[in-house]
Amino acid sequence: FLEVDIEGRVRLVMEGALTARDRVGVQDFVLLENYNSEAAFIENLRRRFRENLIYTYIGSVLVSMNPYKELEIYSKQQMDRYRGVSFYEISPHIYALSDNTYRAMRTERKDQCILISGESGAGKTEASKKILLYYAVTCPTNDRMAALGDRLLQSNPVLEAFGNAKTLRNDNSSRFGKYMDVQFDFRGAPVGGHILNYLLEKSRVVHQNHGERNFHIFYQLLDGGEDDQLNTLNLERNPQNYRYLVKGNCPRVSSISDKNNWKVVMKALPVIGFTEEEVQKLLNIIASVLHLGNTQFGEGEEGETYITTEISNLARLLGVDGSALREALTHKKLTAKGEEMITPLNFEQAEAARDALAKAVYGRTFTWLVEKINQSLALKDEIYHSSKGSSVIGLLDIYGFEVLQHNSFEQFCINYCNEKLQQLFIELTLRSEQEEYETEGIAWETVQYFDNKIICDLIEEKHKGIISILDEECLRPGETCDVSFLEKLEDTVGGHPHFVTHKLANGKTRRVMSREEFRLLHYAGEVNYNVNGFLDKNNDLLNRNLKEVMCQSDNQILSHCFRREEVIDQKRPEMAATQFKNSLMKLTEILRSKEPSYVRCIKPNDAKQPGRFDEVLVRHQVKYLGLMENLRVRRAGFAYRRRFEAFLQRYKPLCPETWPNWHGRLADGVLTLVKHLGYKDEEYKLGRSKIFIRFPKTLFNTEDVLEA
Ligand code: ATP
Ligand code: MG
Repeated sequence: FLEVDIEGRVRLVMEGALTARDRVGVQDFVLLENYNSEAAFIENLRRRFRENLIYTYIGSVLVSMNPYKELEIYSKQQMDRYRGVSFYEISPHIYALSDNTYRAMRTERKDQCILISGESGAGKTEASKKILLYYAVTCPTNDRMAALGDRLLQSNPVLEAFGNAKTLRNDNSSRFGKYMDVQFDFRGAPVGGHILNYLLEKSRVVHQNHGERNFHIFYQLLDGGEDDQLNTLNLERNPQNYRYLVKGNCPRVSSISDKNNWKVVMKALPVIGFTEEEVQKLLNIIASVLHLGNTQFGEGEEGETYITTEISNLARLLGVDGSALREALTHKKLTAKGEEMITPLNFEQAEAARDALAKAVYGRTFTWLVEKINQSLALKDEIYHSSKGSSVIGLLDIYGFEVLQHNSFEQFCINYCNEKLQQLFIELTLRSEQEEYETEGIAWETVQYFDNKIICDLIEEKHKGIISILDEECLRPGETCDVSFLEKLEDTVGGHPHFVTHKLANGKTRRVMSREEFRLLHYAGEVNYNVNGFLDKNNDLLNRNLKEVMCQSDNQILSHCFRREEVIDQKRPEMAATQFKNSLMKLTEILRSKEPSYVRCIKPNDAKQPGRFDEVLVRHQVKYLGLMENLRVRRAGFAYRRRFEAFLQRYKPLCPETWPNWHGRLADGVLTLVKHLGYKDEEYKLGRSKIFIRFPKTLFNTEDVLEA
C-alpha cells in the first residue's frame, strides 16, 4: 500500500513481516480497524510517539502529543510544503490545520476559530505560537503588514513574562486564558489583531506552592536588569530577599534563562509601541510589588498595627504619598449612615490589605498591558475601510481542566470554563453531526455521549447555581464565612446528582472528604474543592482608602488602572465568579459565530521528559478530551458531504448525461453522475439535500479525474 512518511514522500510499502503501518500506526484514527477500542487508540498514539510522529487526525481534529524535545519539523521549508495542500495528501501537522483553516476562511468567507485544549503542560501555548508563526511567515504581506506580523509575534513573550509562571506541571504555565483574533484583509494579509484575556491567577503574586514560582517577570528583572536599573528601583539581585518570591522555594529553574528572556521582553516592548517612559513606569510597578511583599507590620501595646519597614521607596515607586499609603495600609475607611469612620486594622487584616493591594496592582497592570497590546494591534482606520470582506481567525489557548492536591476558587473557575468549552464542542460537533444525519434522513448508529449541560447549569444557573449562591453569600449582611457558604450549597443544590459533600456523601463517594469541601462530578472526573478563601477571592475587595491613595498615583499606568470614579461610585462591581461567567458567555457567543477547528493536546508523562509514554496518564486525557466519542461520531459518519447543487455543479463535466446541464431532480442527477463514476453503494449515501461520501479517497479520485 501507499504510505505518506513524515517527509511527505509517498512510498510503496510491501506487506511484509513488519509493515510501515505496524510501525508508525495510522495518521488518521478514522482508519483504525477497531475504532471502538480505546486500547487500539492508545497503541496507535504510542507507536507514532515512538517514531516522533506527534500529530494524528481524527477527521479534521488534530491530536498533538507533546514531544518534550525540539523536532525538526517547523522550518520554513516545512511551512511551504503544507501550503495549499489538502489534509489527506500529506502527513498530519499543525501547519496543515493552520493552512486548511486559512483556506476555509478565504474560500468560504466565513470567520474561523481554532480551539486548543488539553491539560497543563500538554502543549497548547506552543501550538498557538506555531499557528501564529505560520500565518506571519506564509500569508501575503507588504511592509506595513509585516510590522503587524512582528507585533503579533512580539506580544507573546511580553504576555508570557507577565502571565506565565513555573508550576509543578509546566515550567512555562499560562496562568491566564487567552483568546486572540487575527484579522485578515480581502487579500488574505493579516492586518490586525485583538486579545481577550481571562482570569489571571492573581493569588500567585503573593503566594506560591512548594516547587512553584511567581510570574516570570520578577525573576527576569532581577536576573537581567542592568545594575543601575536595579539601583534606581532599589532592588537587589537575589530573589531570596523578596518574600513574594520565596514561598515556593525555587528561584531558579534549569530550563529557563531569566536573563535571556528579559532581553527578549525589553526588545519586544518598543516593537509593540511602548515608549521609554512607559517601560520605566512598568518597571516601577514590578519593583513596587516586590517592595510591598517586604512591607511588614508590628503590633502595638493597644493592639494597633504599625508598619515596621521603610516605605518611602515603595511610595516613590507607586507614585503616591508616603504617609497616606502608611495610613491606608493600617486603617480602614467605612461609610456608615453617611458618615465616614476610620478604624484601625489588626495585624492579620493589615497583612491581608497589603496582599490585596499587591494583587490589585499586578492584576490591573496585566489588564492594562493587554489593552496596550491591543492598541498596537488594532486595525488602523484606513486599512479597516479598505478591508471590506475581511475575515478573522480566532485562537483560543485557555487553561485546561485542573485537579490539584488542593483545589480552590481558581480551579473551580478553570474547570467551569472547561465544562463550557466541552458544552460548545458537543453542540458544534457531536450534536450537530447527529442532527444533520437525522434531518437528511440518513440512518446511522447513534453515538452515546454524555451531555454536560447538567453540570454547567449546576454552576451557572441564575438564582440556583453555585455562582449565584456564592454571590449571595458574599453580599449577605452579618456573619458569613466560607463554611456558611458550604451549608447554603448543601441546602440549595444538595440533591443534585453531580454535587457531593461530606454530609451528603452517604456512600455516594469513595474517597473521604473533609468538612470544608464540596465535590463536583465534572464530565472529566471528580474534583474536591476546599471552600476556604472562596468568599474573599470572589469578593476581591480592596479597602476604599487604598483605592483612594492609588488613584492619586503620578504613575500614569496606575492612575489609569485605579479610576477615581471607582471610589466615588458606591455601586458594588460584579464579583469575580460572575465577571468570569459573563466573560465566558461572551466568549462562547464569539466562538459560536465562527467555524471551529480543534487541536487536542496530550502530555505523554508528568516528568516533562522526552520518549516517555505513561499509558495511565495518556488514557485519562483521551477520556476527558472525549476523543473516543469524537472518533465514533466521525466513523459513524461520512468524511464529506456536499449539497446536491454544489456537487453537480463541480462534477457534471464528468458525465455525458449531466453535461452541460441536468434537467431533472437534483438527487437523480447526482445519482446518475456517481453511477457513471463507478461509486460503489457503500461509498456514499444520498440524503434529502446532500450527498454523503464515506471515504476521503472517493472524492480524491473524482477530483483527479476532473483535473485530468
Ligand atoms: P499550560 O496550561 O500550563 O499553559 P500548555 O498546554 O500551554 O500548558 P506549553 O507551555 O505549550 O503547555 O508546553 C509545555 C512545554 O512542553 C513547553 O515549554 C515545551 O518545552 C514543551 N513542548 C510543547 N509542545 C512542544 C512541541 N511541539 N515541540 C517541542 N516541545 C514542546
Ligand atoms: Mg500555556
